[in-house]
Amino acid sequence: MPAPKIQVAVIGGGLVGLSTALFIMESLPQCSVTVISETFSPNTTGDVAAGCLIPHYYPGTPLHQQKDWFKETFDHLFKLANSSEAGEAGINLISGFKNNGGHLERRKVNNVWDLHGTYDAVVNCSALGSRDLFGDQSIYPVKGQVLEVNAPWIKHFIRDGDGNTYIYPGISVVKLGGTRQKDDWSLIPNAEASKGILHRCCHLEPSLCGVSVIQEKVGLRPTRSALRIEKDILIKNGQQLPVIHNYGHGGGGFSIHWGTAKKASKLLQELIPKIHNVYTKSRL
Ligand SMILES: Cc1cc2nc3c(=O)[nH]c(=O)nc-3n(C[C@H](O)[C@H](O)[C@H](O)COP(=O)(O)OP(=O)(O)OC[C@H]3O[C@@H](n4cnc5c(N)ncnc54)[C@H](O)[C@@H]3O)c2cc1C
Repeated sequence: MPAPKIQVAVIGGGLVGLSTALFIMESLPQCSVTVISETFSPNTTGDVAAGCLIPHYYPGTPLHQQKDWFKETFDHLFKLANSSEAGEAGINLISGFKNNGGHLERRKVNNVWDLHGTYDAVVNCSALGSRDLFGDQSIYPVKGQVLEVNAPWIKHFIRDGDGNTYIYPGISVVKLGGTRQKDDWSLIPNAEASKGILHRCCHLEPSLCGVSVIQEKVGLRPTRSALRIEKDILIKNGQQLPVIHNYGHGGGGFSIHWGTAKKASKLLQELIPKIHNVYTKSRL
């Protein structure tokens, strides 16, 4: 009889959770993966992001690691952009995951121990949710607001020196940004901020003056001095729950998500012999 699959729960259905889940499925076929998340696209931080590949600095994370993760992500996306799947790349994460046999569950996890018994390991990609779920007070939001406008004549990316003002053309809309407000948890767009964005972008690109705004969007960058990508074994009443953390991508999640997914998957792989041990003992 084939060995039962190792049941893995990934908490968080944003860019980081889905890419990590997909990487685990592709690299560790002995695992069955379920993504449990309070929200999925189009209600994640990545749906607001400009999504530009640009190095973002994490002061508490060794620079060589950041460079590796950026390069791995760049290479992965470059390959995708040159493949026949390029046109669907934006929606590939969820469909790619489901088509590979992954499961999705929409719900909030209030206590990580609720997953014990059903799952053998947990991968935490809950971003700001890690504050309540794992008591991590060092993660905080940096609110970002963008405008989606109808300006099909804009074909080039324009960004000012400090990156506070940018104009990024996408497939169907152009994104204008932006703002950065530390510790602001509000997901409600601010009218003054929108006015400021339009004003600054028109200054950079005068053809945008009078452009029609389709939508104002807000996202909270899950920020931390260092990314947290590490393994942990939680212990309660003599029970163990292996957890891999992968969160704190702040304003650079797009730029490193594939590299960090690979790292989290490798950490899970290192835990598998331990999980097997517990398995075997509990079945004796
Ligand atoms: C305006 C803006 C512009 C940006 N521009 C760029 C850019 O140009 N380039 C770049 O690289 N990055 C950019 N980013 C950053 C990037 O978007 C983020 O780093 C990335 O989206 C974070 O992804 P995540 O999956 O970690 O977080 P999230 O998308 O926030 O996902 C976390 C998920 O966890 C779920 N969750 C949380 N707690 C629980 C719980 N208890 N139970 C169940 N589910 C839970 C949530 O529902 C959510 O689905 C930008 C961000 C913003 C806001």
